[in-house]
Amino acid sequence: MTATIMIVEDEADLSLMLRYNLEAEGFRVAAAATGDDAAEMVRDAQPDLILLDWMLPGLSGIELCRRWRARQETASIPIIMLTARGEEEERVRGLETGADDYVVKPFSIPELLARIHALLRRSSPQLVTSILKAGDLELDRTSHRVRRSGRDIHLGPTEYRLLEYLMRSPGRVYSREQLLDAVWGTDVYVDERTVDVHVGRLRKAINRGRNPDPIRTVRGTGYAFDERFQVMG
Ligand code: CA
Repeated sequence: MTATIMIVEDEADLSLMLRYNLEAEGFRVAAAATGDDAAEMVRDAQPDLILLDWMLPGLSGIELCRRWRARQETASIPIIMLTARGEEEERVRGLETGADDYVVKPFSIPELLARIHALLRRSSPQLVTSILKAGDLELDRTSHRVRRSGRDIHLGPTEYRLLEYLMRSPGRVYSREQLLDAVWGTDVYVDERTVDVHVGRLRKAINRGRNPDPIRTVRGTGYAFDERFQVMG
């Protein structure tokens, strides 16, 4: 299972940057640019955590926070406020309104991620398992280490993200295009054959000797992490 994070932020660049980093971290992302869109979206997106900008066109962050806290189905969703420097008063008001935490812009991504993980560990511990395991293969999302049969495997950053993404949903088949979007990002132009090259490198790194291959090539479609690998390993 993957946690869904809803970004409510009207600055498009910041929203995109957050989306990119959260997706790279393995979160599902829903983004709204106005308070009214966010109010609409929250029902469908069912976020596990909300990043809420304070200064929004239309419904303000503080009003949204108050509404969500008052409704039973949204009352317990952790909310991190994104505030501008100098909005001390709003921060205090925000915490009074029920936000769980806040960061001051410009904030560092590692710090924000640490706060997100801390809140999710409290609210939804099942969503933040840091170790993915399948058969004799183990991937630690905190230290970014990969082991097979207890032995460290060194992967390049792209191979790591590729493996992490595939391991999250064993059996699910991804097209090359989906993998490009998820692993390389939607704003990067890379040829689809690049995916094949990196899958090749990933296989070479994780499969030694007669080890079974956990990556399945689905002809005419793309790749999947083999769901049978759990029992094969
Ligand atoms: Ca804003």
